[in-house]
Amino acid sequence: MSTLVVENLAVRYGGVSAVRSVSFTVPPGESVGLIGANGAGKTSTLRALMGLVPRAAGTARFGDRDLGKVPARHMVRLGIGYVPEGRHVFAGLPVEKNLLLGAYASKWDSSCRARLSEVYDLFPVLGQMRGRLAGALSGGQQQMLAIGRALMARPVLLLLDEPSMGLSPKLVEVICSALQRLRAEGLSLLLVEQNAMLTFEVTGECLVLENGSVAMTGTSAALRDDPRVRKIYLGL
Ligand code: ATP
Repeated sequence: MSTLVVENLAVRYGGVSAVRSVSFTVPPGESVGLIGANGAGKTSTLRALMGLVPRAAGTARFGDRDLGKVPARHMVRLGIGYVPEGRHVFAGLPVEKNLLLGAYASKWDSSCRARLSEVYDLFPVLGQMRGRLAGALSGGQQQMLAIGRALMARPVLLLLDEPSMGLSPKLVEVICSALQRLRAEGLSLLLVEQNAMLTFEVTGECLVLENGSVAMTGTSAALRDDPRVRKIYLGL
C-alpha cells in the first residue's frame, strides 16, 4: 500500500498562478479533502497530480513512483482512479459497457464480473439500468456511473473532483454514503469539493484552499467546528 505525498505543488496558466506551494499526504486507507470556493485551485491540483496540466513546481509521489513521470493513462496501473469533474460518461453506450470500459486495463475474466457485482451492490440503480444508455441517466445516476467506472479498475486511491456538483440533497446523501462505505472498506480517497459538509463527513483530514494556497489544515472534525470555516464554508 502506497502513500500519496504532494510537496510544494504549483500550477500556472500563463501569467495566472492557480496553485501555490500546496503540500499534503494521503496515507493508505486515509481519506483527505480539499475544500474551497470557486476558483480556489482544487481542480487544478487534481489535474496536476494526474498529469493533465503541467506542474510549474513541486513533486507528487505515490509510494516509490514519481507521478511526474507517469502519463495520465498509466495512473490506473499504479492503482490510482480518477473521477473527473463533470462525469464524462459515454452517453451513447449502455451503463454496463461504460462500467466495463473502466476495467479496460485488465483482461475480461471472472474478477470483472465480481467487480460489476460490487458496483451494482454499491449503486443498485445502476444494476437496474445496466442496459440503458448512459446519456438517459439523471445527473446523479451519471455521477454514480462515473464513480463505478473508476472502481472497476480496483484502485487503491480514488481521486474525486466535485462528485456532488449539481446534485439534489438526496443524491448528495447517496454519494456520501457510498464514499463512506468505500472508505470503511479501506480505499484511500482524495476528495475535492465545494460542499464542505459532505467533505467533513467523508474525510478524516482536510485542507482549505484559498486563491491557490493552503489557508487551513486540520482534522475534518476540528475544521467543521472552526468558527471561520462554519461562517465561510458552511454558512452557519
Ligand atoms: P471550481 O470549483 O470552479 O472548479 P477550483 O477550486 O477547482 O474551482 P480551478 O478550476 O483549479 O479552481 O481554478 C483555479 C484558477 O485557475 C482560477 O482562477 C481559474 O480561473 C484558473 N484556471 C483554471 N483553468 C484554467 C485554464 N485552463 N486557463 C486559464 N486559467 C485557468
